[in-house]
Amino acid sequence: MRPAVIVVVGAGPRGAGIVERLIANVAELLGGRTLEIHVVDPYSPGSGRIWRQNQSALMWLNVPLQSVTMFTDSSVDCDGAIRPGLSLHSWTARHGGDVHSHDGFVSRLTQGRYLEWFFESVVAQRPTTVTVVVHTTRAVELLDHHGGRQQVRLANGEPDVTADAVILAMGHLDVLPDHQAFGFAEFASRHRLSYIPSGYSADLDLGMVRPAEDVLIRGMGLAFVDLTVLLTEGRGGRYQTTAGGLRYVRSGAEPTIYATSRRGVPHRTKFTYVLDDPAALPRFLDAENYTGSTSWAVDFVHDVWPAVAKEIGWSYYHEFFRAHPKRVRTGWNDFARLYSADPWGSETLSRHIAAAVPNPADRWDLDSVRDPLARAGRASLERLQPYVRSLLRADLTRRTSSGQSAELGAFLGFRSAAHQISELLGNDRLTARSEAAIGARWRRLYEHFCSGPPPLRTRQLLALSEAGVLKFLGSKVSVVADETERVFSATSATMPSALRFTALVDGWIPRFDLRLTTDKLLTRLIAAGEATEFVRSDADGFAYRTGLIQVSGETFEMIDRRGAAHRHRYAIGPFTSTRQFSTFTSPGTNGRSFRQNDRLARGVLRTLEAG
Ligand SMILES: Cc1cc2nc3c(=O)[nH]c(=O)nc-3n(C[C@H](O)[C@H](O)[C@H](O)COP(=O)(O)OP(=O)(O)OC[C@H]3O[C@@H](n4cnc5c(N)ncnc54)[C@H](O)[C@@H]3O)c2cc1C
Repeated sequence: MRPAVIVVVGAGPRGAGIVERLIANVAELLGGRTLEIHVVDPYSPGSGRIWRQNQSALMWLNVPLQSVTMFTDSSVDCDGAIRPGLSLHSWTARHGGDVHSHDGFVSRLTQGRYLEWFFESVVAQRPTTVTVVVHTTRAVELLDHHGGRQQVRLANGEPDVTADAVILAMGHLDVLPDHQAFGFAEFASRHRLSYIPSGYSADLDLGMVRPAEDVLIRGMGLAFVDLTVLLTEGRGGRYQTTAGGLRYVRSGAEPTIYATSRRGVPHRTKFTYVLDDPAALPRFLDAENYTGSTSWAVDFVHDVWPAVAKEIGWSYYHEFFRAHPKRVRTGWNDFARLYSADPWGSETLSRHIAAAVPNPADRWDLDSVRDPLARAGRASLERLQPYVRSLLRADLTRRTSSGQSAELGAFLGFRSAAHQISELLGNDRLTARSEAAIGARWRRLYEHFCSGPPPLRTRQLLALSEAGVLKFLGSKVSVVADETERVFSATSATMPSALRFTALVDGWIPRFDLRLTTDKLLTRLIAAGEATEFVRSDADGFAYRTGLIQVSGETFEMIDRRGAAHRHRYAIGPFTSTRQFSTFTSPGTNGRSFRQNDRLARGVLRTLEAG
């Protein structure tokens, strides 16, 4: 019998994880049949593009090293063999790496080395029936061959690879500029201004932003933090530790950075402590036993959001009552009974909360998360700076000292709700309108509260602000290309008088949209109708275009224009309708990526077994 052949396109963390699962399952599902796995990626397998070695050592992995493992452990609920191995934490203890500050964050270079080591050790431990061939190039075309076999064309002119199955694990892909970005680029080139559309920080050429120039960065999430680091420390600036915190020492090569976003403040800092006795979740939003709607199709805004808000509040108060018994007027059990009985936002519930938690400053305040600058009103640039710094300092305290642990309770509520929402999405229970609302409302709120920088980064932002290198411009900004003045002009809800800029940078990660993809392989599949957009529709005709490639939620098979699943083509990752912006998995948490990779690998091997 000829060897079975599988091609994995993309060898970042996802592709490497899939190779691990193919190898873990091969003996059980293919017996003695030989298997060739071809891995295609222009970057090193394991690290791939995002975690590659040729990038600035100043770029960090934004989760603590204790939160990352590439190996399955006994917590993982999958059918394939569990094959434990070193977590990032154990790996750095053994192999070294640059662990920053006591908070335990590492550079992307260290994470990349761990990922490359993972891939190498997985390949080294393969059974003798398996061969792994790495092609350091792009895959540019995928064609149907005889008898369902697949032909993968490579950019470097190597002979095509003919395979029984192809798995696309292409991760974060480039997109063409959208309408506004295209217009800004054209405007900038006409007036000799600088405009850098959204991109991956390691790939961007920031050289066009001149020393001392006023540059506006839109977006204040993790990409903004990367950009700020590259424009300051990356240009020779450094930090001194003082009694009051950090002091930034200028190099003279940095620009003055003006930062703005929908909320006008950076994402909330990562926590550095854990709870001893967190609330048992889910409590009010459980996708498996969801009863919040009488119909199968659930509406996010009306049905789910009230449960989300209640879940977060529940988890917050559970921790508040545990940590601060002297600041509450009732016992937890009484409070919990009343809290459970009334809907979120109702007057009765607000009254119960006010009676039990007398100090308003102790109550959970979702509105201040949604709109942190609401209380600042309209403010001058000068007045806004100390105000935002005070918010950052308060955030740092809540996130790094367990004395204000109720905030971590709220975080766990957010995280549980996020998990349940993605389960509801995965089960196709949410309406198309819900999907649109989740994109616009929930995901951004979640990222703001739960997906921020390590504490040291927030301290650095504070130091940059104190040094006048970073200025906060307020919330809900509007930027226009001002043809009269030949500058980018920005106004915000906080500061209505316009500020002018000769340099503008979009500080967010590009969002995949198949209409804008630059990837040749995908472009050809889309043009041929062999890959199609995942569009959600409601009964009344409302349609939500996700921009994502449609795959079967169960099997990850690609779906073509006619709605047919392809038995030999699979795709997974943030460019597909699996809709998972995959983050790394913490040890012992039954990570979803592991379960998905195992299901995918076993499904693919089974088709080979059958064929
Ligand atoms: C800038 C950035 C920072 C991040 N930081 C964190 C973090 O700190 N913590 C965290 O948990 N998550 C983080 N993430 C989330 C991220 O999703 C995961 O960390 C992870 O990289 C996703 O793995 P992946 O393999 O799906 O995608 P990728 O890492 O993007 O890998 C996909 C690979 O596919 C290859 N590829 C694409 N097209 C082709 C083709 N046609 N032919 C051949 N190869 C191809 C690419 O070269 C790439 O190597 C970050 C994401 C980004 C973009």
